[in-house]
Amino acid sequence: MGGRNDLDLIERVLSSPGELLKAMDAEGIARAALINSVAPEVMGLTDLVNPWIARYVDGHRDRLVPVGGIHPRHSKDIAGDMKRLIDVYRVGAIKLHPPHMELAANAYRTDCPSLAEVYRLAGEAKRPVMIHTGTSIFPGARNVYADPMACDDVAVDFPETTIVLCHAGRPLWYETAFFLLRRHPNVMLDVSGIPPKRLLDVLPRLAEIPDRVLWGTDWPSMGVRSMSQNVEDFLSLPLPDAVRRKILFENAEALFRS
Ligand SMILES: [Zn+2]
Repeated sequence: MGGRNDLDLIERVLSSPGELLKAMDAEGIARAALINSVAPEVMGLTDLVNPWIARYVDGHRDRLVPVGGIHPRHSKDIAGDMKRLIDVYRVGAIKLHPPHMELAANAYRTDCPSLAEVYRLAGEAKRPVMIHTGTSIFPGARNVYADPMACDDVAVDFPETTIVLCHAGRPLWYETAFFLLRRHPNVMLDVSGIPPKRLLDVLPRLAEIPDRVLWGTDWPSMGVRSMSQNVEDFLSLPLPDAVRRKILFENAEALFRS
């Protein structure tokens, strides 16, 4: 995190939701989805992230959407763990991170059959599954699982489940992500982690898919200096107002329950 000047803020935010809400107020951000995944091998993140995020958003669910995770190779009871995620922790979505989980998004067809239950139960509960697509430079990340094309299987096999292709395959597979979105009605994408000023260079047909794109900043990940700066950069793009509103608010509002 060399060179960033907001480490203090990040530390405060991690220890207290009030600090995050204050930062959001200062930056003009109404609501945020807080993304967590279970990735023991690469990230050291166990399923303790789920009770942690549920506690963090307690009392603030009007503005903070908890997103939790599950790792089917580590879960001993997928149905029980999914039920807990949905009924107890009440997550707004489930995040899978293939390069950090060492797991292909379509691994239920090969070496991890129980992954199918995750997609099926998420669809049943009307919770989207957010799948990280695109490379990761985190030490130990497995980029062989980064190509969004594996999500073609998921969209085919679980038509009742909404799948969000996070980061739209950044930076190598924007065309794949766009193709999957056009092919499958149950696929959306989020634009988090893509420098907003470059959005129309990498996704030139963005205005054709206004109902299927979710805003996201990826803050506090590296290279994202502030949430509001990202929004300002986005607003400088030549996009119709109705498209901007859908991407910034309306689509997320429809997708995430409070
Ligand atoms: Zn991600």
